[in-house]
Amino acid sequence: MDLFYRSTRNSSEAVTASQAILKGLANDGGLYVPETVPRLEKSLEELAGMTYQETAYEVMKLFFTDFTEAELKECIAKAYDSKFDTEVIAPLVEADGTYYLELFHGATIAFKDMALSILPHLLTTSARKNHVNNEIVILTATSGDTGKAALAGFADVKGTRIIVFYPKNGVSPIQEKQMVTQKGDNTFVVGITGNFDDAQTGVKQLFGDRELAAVMDKAGFQFSSANSINIGRLVPQVVYYVYACAQLLKEGKIERGEQINVVVPTGNFGNILAAYFAKQMGIPIAKFICASNENKVLCEFFETGVYDRNREFVLTSSPSMDILISSNLERLIYLSAGADAEKNAAFMRDLSETGRYAITDDMRAQMKDFYGNYASEQETANTIKALYEKTGYVIDTHTAVAACVCGKYQKETGDYTKVVLASTASPFKFTRSVMNAIDAKYDAMTDFALVDELSRLANIAVPRAIEEIRTAPVLHDTVCDKEEMRDVVLKFLGI
Ligand SMILES: *Cc1c(COP(=O)(O)O)cnc(C)c1O
Repeated sequence: MDLFYRSTRNSSEAVTASQAILKGLANDGGLYVPETVPRLEKSLEELAGMTYQETAYEVMKLFFTDFTEAELKECIAKAYDSKFDTEVIAPLVEADGTYYLELFHGATIAFKDMALSILPHLLTTSARKNHVNNEIVILTATSGDTGKAALAGFADVKGTRIIVFYPKNGVSPIQEKQMVTQKGDNTFVVGITGNFDDAQTGVKQLFGDRELAAVMDKAGFQFSSANSINIGRLVPQVVYYVYACAQLLKEGKIERGEQINVVVPTGNFGNILAAYFAKQMGIPIAKFICASNENKVLCEFFETGVYDRNREFVLTSSPSMDILISSNLERLIYLSAGADAEKNAAFMRDLSETGRYAITDDMRAQMKDFYGNYASEQETANTIKALYEKTGYVIDTHTAVAACVCGKYQKETGDYTKVVLASTASPFKFTRSVMNAIDAKYDAMTDFALVDELSRLANIAVPRAIEEIRTAPVLHDTVCDKEEMRDVVLKFLGI
């Protein structure tokens, strides 16, 4: 039976999985949600015997019901291959009593790779299934991480091109080097003389430009987005929670039927929502511990039931979580309102008009398995140092926010249920912050000297993603004003 998807803001439209993947966002601005979350067909014991790729198929076939077995298996095989530096794809590492689920073994050493390595294949397959003959052009504005992960995912994927705009003076030197050295004839990286908001606004204007869409269509192109609200990114993230739980059972770390808690360093709320879906599929998860940095909108939301983005935006050492509007939260709001699109749309209107909304007690009761807290910058650094000194294991700043919040939760509640903690980035991605947390003396060293020092200290080899950019030639040097973005796109497409 086919599973359909509905918009969180309008209940009348139902689309197939491939249509939802192609569209990304619904016409009414809502997010696509499956009509029901399917139950796993295999027991945890059976799943425990499966590889990551086999687990991925078990999960995805239930969500993407209009894909054939051959189509899905091909997407999975192309995504989870030797781009990952470990065959298990998402290893679990035990340190100080917590299971760190390492989601950073892909091409750009951060967890975005888990979904962005398969999204291009889901998209091109969806295009084929819906008789879209145009080439798909991915447009992305990035503040650093997503851009590189999307470039790596789409590079040399037939039937696609990708254009990434980044603020020329607003990303770290390593992030910029990662992007401008990107290979692949279908990739194009452009620096904007402006900030991230300028890049983001410019991209939104291009998406909304009907005249441009017509010109592109005539030349055989259409835009699409690799944004984190696409269900083609959300569903692949459910897989690793299923896989992690099955591995714990296999290794005898949990017993049959035993529940676990998950802790997730959260920004846009996609990763933790995937864990929530995993529970609804039948994975025994008790609590969802939502960890924020000093941009603690979500932490306060789970404490009070009020979402309020009216506050100062804080730049932290965990930049991928510096977010005041967590777009994927909308799906939880919708579901806890009893899949009531009208109610949800009213909250979202409040959010865009006043920057805040307050949910009902009933809805709060639906979210009782969620717990929110945050870590300050100092607490985050202390957590990295303490874990390293106790165990020798080095974690990145985002993961450290989660580890700190995990400790706060356990102390506050006395709940010491076994924990799977989503480890979202390699420490090599945020080397300077990580090394400074361990010892202030490192601040004087250059970026690459720090990389070597971290490798020695943590006793792990420098990841390929970092090794490559030491020597890689710059392949992209286009810089433009935000007014020129449209022309730059047309030129790249040869129109
Ligand atoms: C994107 C990102 C996050 C936040 O994940 P969401 O799904 O947006 O909540 C956390 N850590 C890292 C390293 C990331 O890149």
